[in-house]
Amino acid sequence: MKHSQTLIPTLKEVPADAEIKSHQLLVRAGYIRQTASGVYSFLPLGNKVLKNVEKIVREEMEKAGAVEMLMPALQPADLWKETGRWYSYGAELMRLNDRHDREFALGATHEEVITSLVRDEVKSYKKLPLTLYQIQNKFRDEKRPRFGLLRGREFMMKDAYSFHDSQESLNEVYDKMFTAYSNIFERCGLNFRAVIADSGAIGGKDTHEFMVLSEIGEDIIAYSDTSNFAANIEMAPVNVPIEKSDEAVAELEKVDTPNVKTMQEVSEFLQLPVEKGIKSLLFKVDEQFVLVLSRGDHEINDIKLKHVLDAANIELASEEEAREILGAEIGSLGPINVDSLEIIADHGVAAVVNGYCGANETGKHFMNVNPERDFKVSRYEDLRFIQEGDPSPDGHGKIKFAKGIEVGHVFKLGNIYAEKLGAAYLNEQGKQDIMIMGCYGIGVSRTIAAIVEQFHDENGITWPKEISPYHVHLIAVNPKNEEQMSLSESVYQKLQSNGMSVLFDDRKERPGVKFADSDLIGLPIRITAGKRANEGYLECKLRASGEQFDVHESELLEKIN
Ligand code: ATP
Ligand code: MG
Ligand code: MG
Ligand code: MG
Repeated sequence: MKHSQTLIPTLKEVPADAEIKSHQLLVRAGYIRQTASGVYSFLPLGNKVLKNVEKIVREEMEKAGAVEMLMPALQPADLWKETGRWYSYGAELMRLNDRHDREFALGATHEEVITSLVRDEVKSYKKLPLTLYQIQNKFRDEKRPRFGLLRGREFMMKDAYSFHDSQESLNEVYDKMFTAYSNIFERCGLNFRAVIADSGAIGGKDTHEFMVLSEIGEDIIAYSDTSNFAANIEMAPVNVPIEKSDEAVAELEKVDTPNVKTMQEVSEFLQLPVEKGIKSLLFKVDEQFVLVLSRGDHEINDIKLKHVLDAANIELASEEEAREILGAEIGSLGPINVDSLEIIADHGVAAVVNGYCGANETGKHFMNVNPERDFKVSRYEDLRFIQEGDPSPDGHGKIKFAKGIEVGHVFKLGNIYAEKLGAAYLNEQGKQDIMIMGCYGIGVSRTIAAIVEQFHDENGITWPKEISPYHVHLIAVNPKNEEQMSLSESVYQKLQSNGMSVLFDDRKERPGVKFADSDLIGLPIRITAGKRANEGYLECKLRASGEQFDVHESELLEKIN
């Protein structure tokens, strides 16, 4: 591509609103421009980078057995009402009405659309498992769109959805996706970690996030200094529930549980803030038991729990001990179970119902509490219960903290969506069964920003080879010099016919401007036709290392390959 022919509007000045390096550099080097807050245009160079990341994503998705399709961004509200997310998703969902006043949403995610589609088209176990994906713009009216491509309101996502007739099948595909994600971020050259995550508003249980380690990351990861254990601290403290989770209390009152306390009451009783994310466990306080029920089954919660207990001098009753003292089966201490609540009531135990929870053991929904709506979520600063140097919950090494950028997220959704939207199939025995699902997202445009965060120096971007918009930046120092121009032209042709992509700076600009732009744009190899052009010599410079050498035209290909 000739520079004179394309659009690369570079800037000397740092844009006033750009706080972080990737945002500054992508704007300054002419890759992106803001159209509205959190909404960006990808200029020709930016578009190339986007396509390169997409290519890696596509290749790894296909390897994992996923098949590409494309769904609409415009989605009828009815679908979102069927799953209840029209009401629970909140202000992040962009909503609009058509000319007939029918309600629509701009896709923030596509569980509703894909599940209803598969419900209508897949009727038999013989079509399962099935994994479909798309790469498409997503819309989220983020409270704080910022940091350029990192947190946009319209952004590019790869989202995949898998459908299964058994948990084993879901586990298999989940593992494949996990591997695909690792491959993708490795090919992007990123320093990342897969961490245990919070299932948040989407629901579901087993979930991991892929975090790029970076000081500007908005997530905090607790990880072991010696093992693979790593978890997002986002599943952090929640202090007091606001009105709506009284639903849960009301539900408990129905089963006649006079000793059930509200979260606030228990908080006062324990003289501690009650934390979200603590496992369902029994505390023994002054010979009284307090059962804390929560969605939590993440290992990270054990750390928090330990600190709650230590801080309050609380002895934790073992499950056996609890059964013995209560003289009854207490049911599972994991998922919320109405039976166990009755037992608790009978034995004068205060119960805290905390947080989200899916089904009880009989499959009946007990609550479905929405965390963003029902709780005030505070962040790491308030998380007093976990400290650097604590033993890692997997028993290996000590806890350390790092900041991370969430570039990918994989979930085992279970049958939450399939059940709500009636995605059933005929199983091998000819009986109707509900599908089991997984979903898998990658922030494609966010990944670009994460790459720039890790690949830059004081002069500009230093792209990894597979991501760079072109392989080579070819510069004719003085376009008026015939020898330089004809050597550049022939190198331009030769490199391209040998499969290398080239950006040819043929502009009538001062050399200083061209070199500064070249450093800013950040292609891996720079080739300059200058003083020694008359002898057929070119100057080569590797962007990342700064290594520089002269090479004769005849040896160029061999030297830079
Ligand atoms: P975050 O915690 O950063 O708000 P999320 O957990 O809401 O992200 P998911 O619903 O898991 O996001 O979406 C899948 C992926 O899409 C994320 O892992 C992230 O890489 C990307 N993503 C989410 N929101 C944005 C955004 N506003 N701008 C750019 N990329 C985003
Ligand atoms: Mg979000
Ligand atoms: Mg997140
Ligand atoms: Mg996420």
